[in-house]
Parts: sequence; structure tokens; C-alpha cells
Amino acid sequence: MEQVRAKKFLGQHFLTDESIAERIAHSLTGQVPCLLEIGPGMGVLTKYLLDDSRYNFKAIELDRESVEWLHSHYPSLEVIEGDFLRLDLTTLFPTSFAVIGNFPYNISSQILFRVFENRQQIPEVVGMFQKEVAERVAAAPGSKTYGILSVLLSAFYNIEYLFTVHEHVFNPPPKVKSAVIRLTRNDVQNLDCDEKRFVQVVKTGFNQRRKTLRNALKPLNMSLDSVPDELLQKRAEQLSVADFVTLTNNLMP
Ligand code: SAH
Repeated sequence: MEQVRAKKFLGQHFLTDESIAERIAHSLTGQVPCLLEIGPGMGVLTKYLLDDSRYNFKAIELDRESVEWLHSHYPSLEVIEGDFLRLDLTTLFPTSFAVIGNFPYNISSQILFRVFENRQQIPEVVGMFQKEVAERVAAAPGSKTYGILSVLLSAFYNIEYLFTVHEHVFNPPPKVKSAVIRLTRNDVQNLDCDEKRFVQVVKTGFNQRRKTLRNALKPLNMSLDSVPDELLQKRAEQLSVADFVTLTNNLMP
């Protein structure tokens, strides 16, 4: 494939290895009938998804040139020209939907926060991310890479790190390695705590991740008197989802 002109702000790194594209497409469990692809670009993943008649399939792509290219090469594809971060997810499909993509890496975290916020509608995500982001999302408590997204997403999803992808299978090659992860919604409907506050506690705790929670949570301006001392002596990266729930429930105005 000739070297394509990358539009930097769009995070365009086109996958050139068909077998990897197929592997990503086949990483969907197939249990969710509606499917949204984010950033299809020149359709390397798309064709495997279109071939699969199980799916009510749509794609959203921000880049006009790519949209035109997709229209001419895949006339049956329903491609929305627009920004996933602004897309109205409530009317997109009649029911819940899975999300797939070799995502634009510059907006990875924002995509994942959107998934978290819309978790009742998104039972499954298969996505390629910068390897570091994938590792962070899939990290377990106690590891250095465990962070805000690991806690928030693992509260509601089972997260699997599927495989690593090398730079040279992209055009143009990114500076970093990539990795594919799968998120599948778990059975948790709610966390038995004030979820808005939970998110605030997780974010604040990790904001100063080297500090113990006793110090890191000071900006919340809430009383920590009822929180078990054992939790306050730890750092955010040492807490499980259940620990964060306990913490949230014991904060007092
Ligand atoms: N899936 C293709 C392209 C990956 S590059 C492949 O694997 O080859 C990321 C793609 O996301 C680009 O096509 C880019 O134009 C698109 N994109 C970037 N920001 C976007 C956004 N906010 N919403 C939808 N698509 C976006």
C-alpha cells in the first residue's frame, strides 16, 4: 500500500495486515446483534464485519475523504459522517450495541469514558488501543499501571487483554505498539453506593497516586472519620473496586 497522507489530528494509522484485521473482527463474541464501528478509515476491519450477516451494522467516521471512499467501495454500509464523541447513542440502534474499532489513539480515553457512561447500552467492546492504554485498562489492583479507567471499567466489565500488535503493520507506523482488548459487561447493575461520588473518589484518589488516600482525598473536603484506617493508609492503586465502594460509603459530608 502506498504511504498515505496521515491527518495527524485524526489519529490515522491504517492497519495493513489482513490477518490481524480478521482476528480483531472475530474477537467479537457474536452475542450482540447491533454493532458500531468507530473510525473505519478505509474499511480494513469493516469488510469482515459487513460479511457477517449476524449484525445490524453501522460505522461512524469523522474524515470526509474516508467517508467518500467507504461509500464508493461499500455501498451497502451505513456510515455516519461525524464525531463519535458527539454521536447521540440513544437513537442509534433499537437496542443495545457492541462497539468495535482500531480507535483513533488521541481520543482513546474519551471513547472509554463514553463507554463507561453508556454501559447499559454497550454490552461489549473490542478495540485496538495504544498498548499502554490497553494495559492500563486491563490492569489489576496493585500494579503500577492500574488507574482511573481500570477501576471504573472493571466495575462493570470483564476485561481481557487479547493480543499485542506491532508498529510495522500500520501505514503510517505509529511510534508505539498497539494491543487489542475485549470488554464484556458483567452482571453488576449498580455499585451499592452513590455512583457519582464513587467516580469522584476514584478520580481524586488517583490524581495524586503516590500519596496515601488520607492525603490524596483531602480535596474532596469530606470527613474521613468513618473510613477504615486500613484503607486510608493505602494508595489508590492498591484498592479494588469493592474497596472503593466501601470508601465511598464511609465518606461523610
Ligand atoms: N479502522 C481503520 C482506521 C484506523 S485510524 C484501520 O484500522 O485501518 C482511526 C480512524 O478514526 C481514522 O479513519 C480517523 O479518521 C477516524 N477518527 C478520528 N477521530 C474520530 C472521531 N472522533 N469519530 C469517528 N472517527 C474518528
